Amino acid sequence: MRISAAFRRWQEVERMRGERNIVANKMKGRLDPSVRQALVEEGKNLKEALAALEEDLVVLTDKLQLEAQCIPNITHPDVPTGGEENSVVRHMVGNPPEFKFTAKDHIQLGKELDLFDFDSAAEVSGAKFYYLKNEAVLLEMALINWAISEVSRRGFTPLITPEIVRSSVVEKCGFQPRGDNTQVYSIEDSNQCLIGTAEIPVGGIHMDSIIPDSSLPLKYVAYSHCFRTEAGAAGSATRGLYRVHQFSKVEMFVFCRPNESNLYHEELVKIEEDLFASLGLHFKTLDMATSDLGAPAYRKFDVEAWMPGLERYGEISSASNCTDYQSRRLGIRYRPAPSDPSMAAPKKGKGGASSPTQFVHTLNATACAVPRMIICLLENFQQEDGSVIIPEKLRPFMGGLSTITPK
Ligand code: AMP
Repeated sequence: MRISAAFRRWQEVERMRGERNIVANKMKGRLDPSVRQALVEEGKNLKEALAALEEDLVVLTDKLQLEAQCIPNITHPDVPTGGEENSVVRHMVGNPPEFKFTAKDHIQLGKELDLFDFDSAAEVSGAKFYYLKNEAVLLEMALINWAISEVSRRGFTPLITPEIVRSSVVEKCGFQPRGDNTQVYSIEDSNQCLIGTAEIPVGGIHMDSIIPDSSLPLKYVAYSHCFRTEAGAAGSATRGLYRVHQFSKVEMFVFCRPNESNLYHEELVKIEEDLFASLGLHFKTLDMATSDLGAPAYRKFDVEAWMPGLERYGEISSASNCTDYQSRRLGIRYRPAPSDPSMAAPKKGKGGASSPTQFVHTLNATACAVPRMIICLLENFQQEDGSVIIPEKLRPFMGGLSTITPK
């Protein structure tokens, strides 16, 4: 309905632009003053009518754009169909810890070890905010440094991103910056938003450009804060650090040739699994079912780790192959090399044969979402005496600290 309305309006605008040009051409050269006057009048009327139509076209195109954003990506043929309960376990790593004492949740541990201040944060900022204190601060810094150094040594370029971006970029990445249930904090009286994930500024870094084939794949590992309204979020896991409005995250992002995105999807999830296994966590990796993919993902693998406080698994990371969903909207292309199997027949241009450009594929994956990692570390590695053992991999990033002990 909207497509045909916008198309008709566009046709009218084009026809009127043509008429305006004809009138302008007629005014060139010598003319009888009365004829010129009539043409001036006609041109003026056309200009006014055209301005109104163009304004209308912008409104219709914006509405169309919003509706187009509701159309999700297609899905990989192997994605399980249905709700979350239909997601399929791909891997299971480690075993849940067996405590010979009554295990505490991270809120209780944090209280006894003086690691968080939720009460002051509630006064200062509101619900679902927190202060980290003492060793929790060292732990956050250590997790970020560890994740960045582990992923960058695998060939990913480290980035620290802007945390305020244009709403248009948020939309082009497949997120809805407006509406009742939006997860995005918009900045009043501006066309900007706070980012919900570094995926948005990293996705935008090559917007409206053609990436040389020889530069692909482009791999980034980005650190940022994330801001989420968590509108409509409910359930048991809303206490403590599990679902908060602001958190730190290290995110991986890949731009690649279309025929390689399934391969990089596997690489990203393998990196996640290696990272979590190296900390000694018990987790499972899931091939997420269709209803859980969100608009941009063609396929999504989530990692869920064992959280003793919840007595269940909780999501700690997510790896998505977005194929060309984001790159089409962001205008990110590459020119395939002649040997690339996705290359169409070359077109003859002025300068001889040249291959047409194509959209790249984009992928994103969590390397380390800090709050849920802190939950896992405190709850899984707690000891009977109330202390918490720091995994060996993190100790070099915490000045060698091996245990958090009650003060
Ligand atoms: P996403 O970018 O939505 O795929 O989320 C990536 C990861 O960030 C999730 O797997 C969680 O570990 C974490 N995360 C998402 N939302 C929140 C939140 N509101 N509070 C704390 N951690 C979150």
